[in-house]
Amino acid sequence: MQILDGKIVSQSVKDDLKSKVDLLKQQGKRLPFLAAVIVGNNGASETYVASKTKNCDDIGFLSTTLRFEETIPEDELIRVVEELNSDNKIDGILVQLPLPQHINNESIINTINPSKDVDGFHPMSTGKLIQGSPTFIPATPYGVMLMLAHYNIETNGKHAVVIGRSNIVGRPMSILLSQQIPNGNCTVTLCHSHTKNLKEICFQADIIIAALGKPGFLTADMVKENSVIIDVGISRVADESKKSGFTIKGDVDFENVASKSSYITPVPGGVGLMTIAALLKNTFNAYEMREANSK
Ligand code: NAD
Repeated sequence: MQILDGKIVSQSVKDDLKSKVDLLKQQGKRLPFLAAVIVGNNGASETYVASKTKNCDDIGFLSTTLRFEETIPEDELIRVVEELNSDNKIDGILVQLPLPQHINNESIINTINPSKDVDGFHPMSTGKLIQGSPTFIPATPYGVMLMLAHYNIETNGKHAVVIGRSNIVGRPMSILLSQQIPNGNCTVTLCHSHTKNLKEICFQADIIIAALGKPGFLTADMVKENSVIIDVGISRVADESKKSGFTIKGDVDFENVASKSSYITPVPGGVGLMTIAALLKNTFNAYEMREANSK
């Protein structure tokens, strides 16, 4: 069994980006700029955005975080996004989800200029992803693909089972794995909360991507020997021994599944770090496209 180490792979992505930014600095050029929008006081959202901006600092990207009260009206938030769209300094816009209930996620996401849609959630990005055209790939599935590539994991002709069909993780993951691309060419089964015989389906998988948000859900009796296990889940589980009062758990029962697998991602230290690395890569791509178009 080999651990797929998100620290190592994300660091190599970041090192590569940092050397590109260093070159831009030497040439006196404009630097990539990511703007994050955060609404309300969601602790997890604050943690994610803080981590994203710290990573921007580390590699030399510029970044800003715009914070708004939970009560901000939808039309005002739309105006904020429109201003970021027309701000020539900004290359990438991310609006941290979830948004408060009175705000329609789609209205906000659809307002982001597709050329700055570094989260890859705009319908234009989704459409291009389905067509197999170059686009911004949602950061978590993109991060998983970078991880598979780094470890040179054979996917051609393999049976991949994706558990979870959300627009941000499971569905784009299933599309990527089925495409005729490096680390694609899988036969994909996309499972969800209405799937029957999930255990039997998982047992047939060469690769399992667990992205359902249920800690420890994938148990050893559901996986066959030597399968590749990618754990996307991040759940806060109460833990009085921790100062924070919680511990982070993935969707895989790691202790028991690891010994049956050929490769496995840990939580934390796996896909979460890759998600941030992929977001940074998307931001750099957005920057390069804008620079090319401005010539
Ligand atoms: P979601 O709640 O939008 O979707 C969950 C999916 O799981 C749904 O499609 C549902 O049908 C499916 N599901 C639920 N119960 C099931 C069951 N018993 N059997 C089969 N399928 C079931 O969640 P999401 O936004 O896709 O996130 C999933 C998990 O991934 C969460 O733990 C989230 O925190 C985590 N996540 C991690 C990262 C990262 O960077 N590692 C990024 C995004 C999300």
